[in-house]
Amino acid sequence: MVEEPGPESESDSTPLENDSTDKRKRKGKTRKVGPADEEGAVPKTRKPRPPKPEPVYVIPDVEKKETTFKGRLGYACLNTILRNKKPASEAIFCSRTCRIDTIKKNGIEWVKELGRQNVKDLLKLIEWNEENNIRFMRMSSEMFPFASHPKYGYTLEYCAAELEAVGDLANRLGHRLTTHPGQFTQLGSPKDEVIANAVRDLTYHCEMIDRMGLGKDSVMIIHGGGTYGDKPAALARIKKSVTERLPQNVRNRLVLENDEMCYSAEDLLPLCEELNIPLVFDYHHDWINPSSIAPAEIIRRANAIFERRGIKPKQHLSEPRPGAETVMEKRAHADRCQKLPDDLPDDMDLMVEAKDKEQAVLHLYRIYGLRPVIHASLRPPAEHETKETKGRKSLKKKAVKTGIIADDLSDEDSPVTVDVGNGTLSAVGVDGDSGASESAPAGSRKKTRRQAKSERTRISRKREKSVPLPVEG
Ligand SMILES: [Zn+2]
Repeated sequence: MVEEPGPESESDSTPLENDSTDKRKRKGKTRKVGPADEEGAVPKTRKPRPPKPEPVYVIPDVEKKETTFKGRLGYACLNTILRNKKPASEAIFCSRTCRIDTIKKNGIEWVKELGRQNVKDLLKLIEWNEENNIRFMRMSSEMFPFASHPKYGYTLEYCAAELEAVGDLANRLGHRLTTHPGQFTQLGSPKDEVIANAVRDLTYHCEMIDRMGLGKDSVMIIHGGGTYGDKPAALARIKKSVTERLPQNVRNRLVLENDEMCYSAEDLLPLCEELNIPLVFDYHHDWINPSSIAPAEIIRRANAIFERRGIKPKQHLSEPRPGAETVMEKRAHADRCQKLPDDLPDDMDLMVEAKDKEQAVLHLYRIYGLRPVIHASLRPPAEHETKETKGRKSLKKKAVKTGIIADDLSDEDSPVTVDVGNGTLSAVGVDGDSGASESAPAGSRKKTRRQAKSERTRISRKREKSVPLPVEG
């Protein structure tokens, strides 16, 4: 298996234990250069690195299985191949964002241009998907940074032409584009301000979809959110928010999803049936936070709502990582899914929420022979998939504090909010299976501890400097 060398590949063989020795050696070397400089020696210029050879990937065979399923499989927000194009300036992705400090420094027009670039790249993602027989995708909620912010928010009018172009392409090719606003978009909060923010965020997502001219199938999925120590009361508030505060066009696209901490599918079904709001059934969440009703029955009832509304049913699929034992480990999504659920209806859309994104879809295509696969688009799976939820927790907590919350974390499928007793919510770190920019690239993940450390430092430095995250140095 050949790997694409990462930016720190020269230090590949340096184990962490030798790190300090290595640094001392390098420091010594630097000091020797000093006096020579003073004597007027021409400073050495770095030799340009020879161009990297095209990596050759060895794709292991998959175990073939059979299914009668013929629906679409989709992935969320980020395409690992396009995101990891080299040089970094050629990377294609839709989650360029920034911090509030950057808005203050560069102005909102600068931020809006990030949005325009994100939308332009969405067009390329859809084209890639079409070539690769993937006709279902979740759009990044980070598409327009801070567009739904109470202070810095803006209308998407300025990007109308680009949004229309995306919608035209998706409609022409028959691609389904959905959204999944972040875990801070909560309609059941006891705090009016939180609900107001949620309404604004849903309205922003809806504006984006409406401007694309996408049909009913382009839904916006949210979780129930916190229960605030009284689930029935919180459900009643969700109902009130939906019926009294959501504009009709926004309500038309709303879909609820069971989560693994607060609301099981069974908790949400009665409300969904009463308000005629479709329910997305997440197999993984149901495994952690099960209903007393069997998945097949939940899906039958959930799909009945979709059908009544004239919307193509969709559900979510992911698997825990191998060996997961603790709740935190179980919540993390595996790199890929190895099987389709047994009782899957033949025709509905299935969003595959896996770390390997489009690779996870292609993996299932190969296992079940669902669609033709372009071999050059395949990347090998990680050799050793760990059960650990490797930490971006601190980054996330920091993100919450610094106000980049919804934008930076919004494609996370898992609701990371839990009640902390007094009606406030606390974000709990889970592993990032998100469309945000730091997802591990498939095929380039065998990092040394030192590389990983260096990468973490780089990411946090980027944040410190308020540089838009995805631009790589
Ligand atoms: Zn889900």
